[in-house]
Amino acid sequence: MSHQRTLQTVATCEGIGLHTGQSVRLCLRPAPANSGVVFKRVDLPAAPTIEAKPANIVDVHHATTIGKGGVKVRTIEHLMAAFAGMGLDNVLVELHGEEVPVMDGSAAPFVEIIQKAGLRRQMVPRTYLKVKERLVVEAERRSIQIVPSERLQVIYTMRFDHPLLGEQSVAFDISRDTFIREIAGCRTFGFLKDVEELRRRNLALGGSFDNAVVIGDGGVVNGDLRFRDELVRHKVLDLLGDLYLLGKPVLGTVIAHSAGHLLHTRLVQEIQRHLDLQQVTPARKSVIERWARPLLQPERSLKVAPS
Ligand SMILES: [Zn+2]
Repeated sequence: MSHQRTLQTVATCEGIGLHTGQSVRLCLRPAPANSGVVFKRVDLPAAPTIEAKPANIVDVHHATTIGKGGVKVRTIEHLMAAFAGMGLDNVLVELHGEEVPVMDGSAAPFVEIIQKAGLRRQMVPRTYLKVKERLVVEAERRSIQIVPSERLQVIYTMRFDHPLLGEQSVAFDISRDTFIREIAGCRTFGFLKDVEELRRRNLALGGSFDNAVVIGDGGVVNGDLRFRDELVRHKVLDLLGDLYLLGKPVLGTVIAHSAGHLLHTRLVQEIQRHLDLQQVTPARKSVIERWARPLLQPERSLKVAPS
């Protein structure tokens, strides 16, 4: 049987918000079994909390924002992906501002502080959401679907409107090792031509060459890619973060075509709406092994290998 996990100790980091441009401090604290991922706005009077769950999704344009009672937390997806990828079930996220810091644009800095803090096993079994029927969400020529399978797999294709990028496709069998090695380090990206429009709409105010892959007419303008197909891998990272709003690891094969936060979160809501079609199940042994091999060594370092 697999057990739920929380942090061994407190983990902290500090950075700026991608969209607000504001400096923010983040503190991850151990949390009781069955409490899930809960955000706490410690910069506000009474420090209101917002649970990371589908019902609290309030905005999905350019980032995933959750909120409750008029209080929001923006751009949670890369942090949520780190929780999903590392198998961290219960954590209290204290935030001294409205937006999760973007760090280097990937989930790697979050993975690093989680590894440093270490994971602790809790005496409550972990359960999984096993999709039992195909669910599809489509919008124009974009789509996402999930079909039953014994483990979480992702097949993601992006068709970019850029002559040098064209179509990129990846397929992953998601495990903690795959996540750390192949996905966590992949950064968010933006096109130079869109920057002005985004800023006009008060978005990407914190975006810079240090926290996003920036693409101009001639290709990437700020250094080398970490993977040849880093952009589509980052979409997988976003998807894993959005899926984790379901509060449990999902077992199923996700097939996405040019999707994004809107379709990811619509799929999440679709899965939530069809919960009777799924069973919440303690995983079979093979799946348990995949997700919960020996506990993390606190000092284990993060490797992001170039492809
Ligand atoms: Zn992203």
